[in-house]
Parts: sequence; structure tokens; C-alpha cells
Amino acid sequence: MISSILIANRGEIACRVIRTARRLGIRTVAVYSDADANALHVRSADEAVHIGPAPARESYLVGEKIIAAAKATGAEAIHPGYGFLSENAEFAQAVIDAGLVWVGPKPHSITAMGLKDAAKKLMQEAGVPTTPGYLGDNQDPAHLAAEAAKIGYPVLIKAVAGGGGKGMRLVEQPEDFADALASCQREAAASFGNDVVLIEKYILSPRHIEVQVFGDSHGNVVHLFERDCSLQRRHQKVIEEAPAPGMDEATREAVCQAAVRAAKAVDYEGAGTIEFIADGSGKLSADKIWFMEMNTRLQVEHPVTEEITGQDLVEWQIRVASGAPLPKKQAELSINGWAMEARLYAEDPAKGFLPSIGTLELFELGEVEGGRIDTGVYEGAAVTPFYDPMIAKLIARGETRDEARERLSDMLHDSAVWPVKTNAAFLINALAHQDFAAGKVDTGLIGRDGDAMAADPEPSDEMLLDAAMSLVPATLAPGLRLNAAPRRVASFLLDGEPVDIEIEGEGSGTGETSVLIAENGKVWQLQPWRVDGSGNHGAHDGDIVSPMPGKIIAVDVTEGQSVTKGQKLLTLEAMKMEHTLTAPFDGTVAELKAIAGAQVQVEALLARIEAVEE
Ligand code: ADP
Ligand code: ADP
Ligand code: MG
Repeated sequence: MISSILIANRGEIACRVIRTARRLGIRTVAVYSDADANALHVRSADEAVHIGPAPARESYLVGEKIIAAAKATGAEAIHPGYGFLSENAEFAQAVIDAGLVWVGPKPHSITAMGLKDAAKKLMQEAGVPTTPGYLGDNQDPAHLAAEAAKIGYPVLIKAVAGGGGKGMRLVEQPEDFADALASCQREAAASFGNDVVLIEKYILSPRHIEVQVFGDSHGNVVHLFERDCSLQRRHQKVIEEAPAPGMDEATREAVCQAAVRAAKAVDYEGAGTIEFIADGSGKLSADKIWFMEMNTRLQVEHPVTEEITGQDLVEWQIRVASGAPLPKKQAELSINGWAMEARLYAEDPAKGFLPSIGTLELFELGEVEGGRIDTGVYEGAAVTPFYDPMIAKLIARGETRDEARERLSDMLHDSAVWPVKTNAAFLINALAHQDFAAGKVDTGLIGRDGDAMAADPEPSDEMLLDAAMSLVPATLAPGLRLNAAPRRVASFLLDGEPVDIEIEGEGSGTGETSVLIAENGKVWQLQPWRVDGSGNHGAHDGDIVSPMPGKIIAVDVTEGQSVTKGQKLLTLEAMKMEHTLTAPFDGTVAELKAIAGAQVQVEALLARIEAVEE
């Protein structure tokens, strides 16, 4: 078996590959860009080689630099992960030509599946059902429009070189065809350098069902059952699971056998995924499931398959690349339980899913029985704008679908990331959605109900009160403690926005200037603002307390002095701002505790004004 391996990737997948390689006693080499010098995959590998500037085009996508790094470190093999160069046949060939082992399919298999039109033609020849559509060379817009009409609307225009949900346009009616085509071609040319498109019948209530396949260099191909990735946002997977809800044995057998035929048709070696689109309007059946494309690499969502089959697919990849036969025969593989994966992204659902970058000052992921975390970051690491914003995958296995779903939800509930924003709350809402919970998912679910899932949650009253009390100091001024009103309204800043919280009793604060509230997958920052006496017209209305921790920078009165309502008493500096405290009514300064230059805690008694006797 190979004894050393370079991982031509970053993030969670690089860490994932390193984990298995290490378990197998294989030396690991990481590569990294300027932006990733302190990344987890660099820290996890035995060795790491710098390959260039932050933009992937100048580092992770430069094949020559990666091959040179393998040569320099004496790595025997290269594992490409997913994304980046993983489906680049030229790179695979260059690796082989350099005398290195390519942990992936043969270059000609990648090429055969690289373009969606050629792949579909090949599948038709192999007897694999494909979605009805047009795959021809004639790319004249009028001709394409005529083909679309023949197929029948709605249709999907797809860039043959597309991927990652890009280069696709759904067209509902003939009037919209020309514009959709032009925009699809523009995007395809810009993203993939190829503007050729195919047209497909748009399947209504579509479900994305894919089959994990594996081949070896001895001509064996097995499948490791199916996954359902129907919960998608803009054609990108959000939550994946295995097996697929509602899949009966006969349908499973038919689809998985079609996938094996597809893999055999391209002489497949290593891990691959055959993606199908299924008509989800009724019960799943083999005559309503069509080949969509093949991904000739390890898939992001491979862990759900590992969790239900008990296999380590990275180990399989390494063994097969080393020339060994598949570790298991088809008859030795079975489904045990249910697994679900959620992709945790550094993005802000409340702001249109905009990527959120910055340092992960807090990074905690929930752990549960049957839970698994695949991540590429750590607390203190930075999320940069250069790469895919996926920071972790949370995976949960259960005996049943509901158990897996609930465990995954618990993991998300117990996760806390700050100040970088994540989609955790969105994922919790998605898992709880009535149709998803019932296993009734089609790819349009998030499009229909996603706004509600993306709504910015608020912390519960209990959490807010607990956090507030942890900011209010335990040792209030004696006078205040004895005669304090049972309830006071205190003002705080919640993520910088003022909020009033009704507080009760004594706090437990010891001078913290902020506290984090973590709930439902979201994290908020609470900071003290100011404390007002409220609903209490007793003697201590005249207590002047520090509204927040800070420093007294000026004291304008002396003890015993008469003051009038609104007269300036002292100035506090806090959070780089000056705050003036004034007399609440006409009276005298009965007590003066404030000393210029002193640091004070929130709610510390600074002065007491006694009203003029009437
Ligand atoms: P990509 O290479 O971008 O992954 P795919 O061909 O796999 O492109 O399609 C991505 C997604 O688009 C699928 O998961 C599915 O949600 C949707 N899709 C693709 N083809 C169809 C179709 N014919 N009808 C309905 N939805 C489709
Ligand atoms: P999948 O069906 O596994 O999601 P996609 O074709 O959507 O496959 O993309 C593969 C994965 O590769 C994506 O989920 C994404 O995380 C990753 N990826 C895509 N493009 C890039 C890129 N430019 N750099 C790094 N990772 C990428
Ligand atoms: Mg796809």
C-alpha cells in the first residue's frame, strides 16, 4: 500500500483524508496558500508545503505546483478531495505522468463524464434511463427554442460543463426561453469557459437521489446504496441523508443497479456518485428516476453513506488506488440505520446568505450520541473570503430517520459560533419543517418556505434574563440593595441594538463588559447600557448608578452641594464614548462615591441625590 500521500485540497475534506491516512499509518503532506498558513489541515498533516497566494487560481488550482510539492516531499500519491482539481482529467494525467499515484478514477473516465451531454449519451447507450431532452450540437438559439417546445415546458437549460448548481436556467414558458438561454450561456462562458448547453425536461416535484459507487482496478464495481439530497437552496445541497425516504427494495435495487451499469460503462475505478433526478410527486418508482450526471470523485456528503454502511470510503479510495481489490463484495454491504448531514456555512441567512468572514472567536459544535463532526477550522481560526464558506459538516446517525434528524437538530442547537455568522438556525428550521420531518422533500421546498426558515431568530426571555443578570454586579451599593424595588428595567445592547430587560434581584456579574447568549444555533452578544430606576418612586430614585463599566473622567459636584434637575454631576467614559450623568430632580448631593479617574462597574452607586423637602 502507498505509504505517503499529498492532499491537494483544504478545509474539512483535507482534514478528513488526513484522519484516515493517519489511522492507516500513511504519512500526510498538506499544501496551503498564503491565506491558509494557520489552517487546520496544515496543522493536522505531518508536513505542509506552501504553494502560493490566497486566490485558488494561483495556488490550489495550479497543478504543477502541487505535483512539485509532492515530488519535493517524496509523497507517493495525490488525493484531490472534492472541488478544485478533483475532476480535472488533465491534472489526473499529469499526476500519473509524474510517476505518482492518483487517488481517483482513470483520466478517461473523468473525461467521459465531464460534460453532461456526452455523459448522457453514453448512459443512454449503456441502458441507463436519462431525462428526456436535447443533447445535440446545433446550438442555434432558434433551433434550441424549437427543441424546448418539442420537449414541452417547463424545461431546464443546462451548461454541459456546469457544476455546483451554476449554469442552469429553469424556463416555464416559451416567451422566456431566449433571455434565459442568453443568460445561461453568458454564465457558462464566464464560469466554465464553455457555453454549450443541453435542454432537459424539468421534472416536477423533483427529488435528487444519488448512488455511491466504487470500482477497483480488477474490474469490480459495487454500490453503497443511495443518498437523498433533495433539500437544496438554489440547486445546492443543504441537508443530505441516507437512505432515501420512501425508497422500497425493488426501486432501490433498480436504481443502484443502473448506477453500477453507469460506472462500468466508463471503466470506473475509485469513489464516484451517480446522480439521478426522481419524480417525487408520488411514490418513488424505477420508471420515474433518470440519470442526471456523474461526479467522479468523493462527494461532500459521503459521510452519511459511511454512517449507514460502517465503511470508511477514504480507506477504500486509498486501498483501491494502491491496487488492492474492493474491501467488500456487494453481498457484504448493507444498510444499518439512518444518517443525516447538515452543511454548516459561514454565511448570514438574514442577509441573503451573504458569506460571513472573520475570526472564529467562539467555535463550538454540538456533540451527541451517534454524532460526527467533520470540520476544517478551529476556535481562533479565520474564515477568509477566498474559498467555499462551508466550515463544517454535522452528521448524525440514528436507528430511525427521526432519531437521526433529532440528533442532528440537537447538534445544531448546541453549536455556538461567533462573531462569524452561520446558517445553523436556518438548518434547525429546515430539519423541523413539517414536510421535511415527514420525509416529503422536493428540491423546491426551500424556494417555497425558505424565507421563514431564514428569519432571524431572537433569544428567549429566559436566556436574555440570565445573560442580563450575569452582567449586573452582585455587590450593589448597600442602600440600593436594602431598598431596591423588586424589579427594574435595565437597558442593554443586544448585538449593538438597544433592548430593555426587566431584571430582578441581585446579579452575579463581576465586571464583564459583555456576555454571549447561545441558543438555537445562534449567538448574540449582550452588553450593559444603562440602568434606570423604574416604577419606584421611593427614596432611591435619586441613586445615580454607573450605566456601564467604565472610568469616571470628571466629577462636577461635591457632597452636600445643591443641584437642580438636569445639572451635570459627572462624566463617565465607556466604550470610547463619554456619558454625562445628570441630576434627576432638584435636591442636594447627599452622598458622593465617584472619584475622578476611578474604574467603576456597571450599576455601582456613584452619587445619591436627595430631593428638596417640600
Ligand atoms: P450540477 O453539476 O450543478 O450539480 P446537476 O445536473 O447535478 O448540476 O443538477 C443540479 C440540481 O438541479 C439537481 O440536484 C436538481 O435539484 C436540479 N435538477 C437538475 N436537473 C433537473 C431536472 N431535469 N428537473 C428538475 N430539476 C433538476
Ligand atoms: P456536490 O454535489 O458534492 O455538492 P458540487 O458539484 O456542488 O458537488 O461541488 C462540489 C463541492 O466542491 C461543493 O460542495 C463545494 O463545497 C466544493 N467546491 C466547489 N467549487 C469549489 C471551489 N472553487 N473551491 C473549493 N471547493 C469548491
Ligand atoms: Mg450535481
